[in-house]
Amino acid sequence: MKENRLASLIALRRCMKQYKHQTVATPLHALVVPSSDAHNSEYLADRDKRRAFISGFNGSRGLSVITPHEALLWTDGRYFLQAERELDENWTLMKEGVPEVPPYQNWLAQHLEPGQTVGVDPMTLTHDSWRVLEDALVNAQIALVATEENLVDKVWSEQPSYPEDPIVPLDIGFTGKDWETKIAECRSVLVKEKVDCMLLSALDDIAYVLNLRGADIKFNPVFFSYLMISQERIVFFLEDAKLTDSIRTWLKPKESVKNVVQFESYESIKPFLSKYASGSDKPRILMSSDITSGLSSLVSANARVIKTSPVALLKVIKNQTEIEGFIQCHIRDGAALCAYFAWLEKELSHGKDVTEISGAEKLREIRALMSHFVGLSFETISSVGSNAAVIHYRPSEETNRAITKDEVYLVDSGAQYRDGTTDVTRTLHFGSPTAFERECFTRVLKGHIGLANALFPSKLVGNYLDTLARQHLWQVGLDYVHGTGHGVGSFLNVHEGPIGISRRHIPSDPGLEENMVMSNEPGYYEDGKFGIRIENLVRVVKADTEHRFKDRQFVTFDNLTLVPIQLKMVDPKLLSQEEVSYLNQYHLTCREKVGPVLREMGLEDGLKWLMKETCPMG
Ligand code: ZN
Ligand code: ZN
Repeated sequence: MKENRLASLIALRRCMKQYKHQTVATPLHALVVPSSDAHNSEYLADRDKRRAFISGFNGSRGLSVITPHEALLWTDGRYFLQAERELDENWTLMKEGVPEVPPYQNWLAQHLEPGQTVGVDPMTLTHDSWRVLEDALVNAQIALVATEENLVDKVWSEQPSYPEDPIVPLDIGFTGKDWETKIAECRSVLVKEKVDCMLLSALDDIAYVLNLRGADIKFNPVFFSYLMISQERIVFFLEDAKLTDSIRTWLKPKESVKNVVQFESYESIKPFLSKYASGSDKPRILMSSDITSGLSSLVSANARVIKTSPVALLKVIKNQTEIEGFIQCHIRDGAALCAYFAWLEKELSHGKDVTEISGAEKLREIRALMSHFVGLSFETISSVGSNAAVIHYRPSEETNRAITKDEVYLVDSGAQYRDGTTDVTRTLHFGSPTAFERECFTRVLKGHIGLANALFPSKLVGNYLDTLARQHLWQVGLDYVHGTGHGVGSFLNVHEGPIGISRRHIPSDPGLEENMVMSNEPGYYEDGKFGIRIENLVRVVKADTEHRFKDRQFVTFDNLTLVPIQLKMVDPKLLSQEEVSYLNQYHLTCREKVGPVLREMGLEDGLKWLMKETCPMG
């Protein structure tokens, strides 16, 4: 394996040396290999994991730079330990955020000579990232070259092929809106933005508009494609093999001739876009900010409008059918978790062996019993003690530990159901937690409740709410280093922009309003010892307020997730009366909604566990 990796690196360096840019030999003095695909997806299909292939580092975030004599990998603090373990002696770890480590753009500007050349596949870098890199290099008189093919692909002999899973239509009973209505909404955006057409490249945007779902990327029910929408045409770029009769029938317009879908192959996007953009009527084209430089560069600067995807702004507000789906799938998901925790508690009390991995597998099996289950929405974080302190931990054979009565157990998991996506974290102790573990848990819980109960003006950006979730940790000098909340798709990606609750200001955040769905997930992590996180998905609902300020609508959150919060971990002395009432009310709702599902499915142990865990606090 190691020999193979070195051989690939040597082969890649040979390709860089012999590189020909349109018949002219242009040796590349450095090659940038980002962790991205042609759609700026957060999760990648196996064939697009090029940075992982060439470097050996499997973390989800990282970027590598290869020169004739060096191979470097940049990643952030969450992954330093993993990268040190996975990179071999041919690689240098560049620790992002450490003061003496420059960003990769600056490193290139500092280490290359004027007149030298940096190559990158423009289909793996967004328009904005390309510009940042170009600006850094221009000042140092270094040329940035868009390679016509991906050089890593050339040396990757066993590169997986494109996934072949079929695409399936999603019925109006789940989407609440037919695709022709969504196309009409996109067309009104064209009028508003004064553009002739929009090019959609984010895979979840396309799946949303056409009411289709696929399985090309693990955990994300999307498929590789592009979609162009103008007032007269709809052009759908899809691999030929995926264009089945069922898709053709699904996309047969009911009303307008303007809705006849023109099918083009996935690969033809570049020539098609070039030709369209150079048309005599000089069309103005709207592209979302996650467009790759490989596509944006085909359209002249004055003909392109690059901004937050209008479809992202449409789909972030859920319609009534989607909201009802979220409510229903969370009741079933809650039942699955109750049945899992009941099973786990019983196994441990009988002295049986359960590990992080076997526990996660059992949870998946139980979820699969629930109606409309399709798969998991991300890889389950099932973690014990010190492993739970690693925020982005995923259990592997090497790190797998036994779940015991002696340590805190954190499980962050979720599923894709046809009627919605779930994401929930619970932290439990099956023995006796320490006083400090309980104090930390209670402070995290107070933040979680503080955010859940927040009342705020509609369209406030999530950034303002972040402090509510942290204040009780801050009071005693504690904190956590991840965001507090992210948007969630409706049977789509578990991380859905552009909303979020975090210390970081998100420039494209439109603000929170009624019928948005997001997570509420504060935590605390004690390195080497334990980790705590309490995560519910919530929906934004209108709030009744005593007074009214300049007719502004106020909103608050309503919990979608219905899984008991373990009271054994709570220090009641730290809770206010309101917080106790909140917990009692929440647990009563869990009982009322989830209990009947457990009863109906004959999951008696789960039902008993639910009743025990939802006894009111005194
Ligand atoms: Zn989660
Ligand atoms: Zn989450």
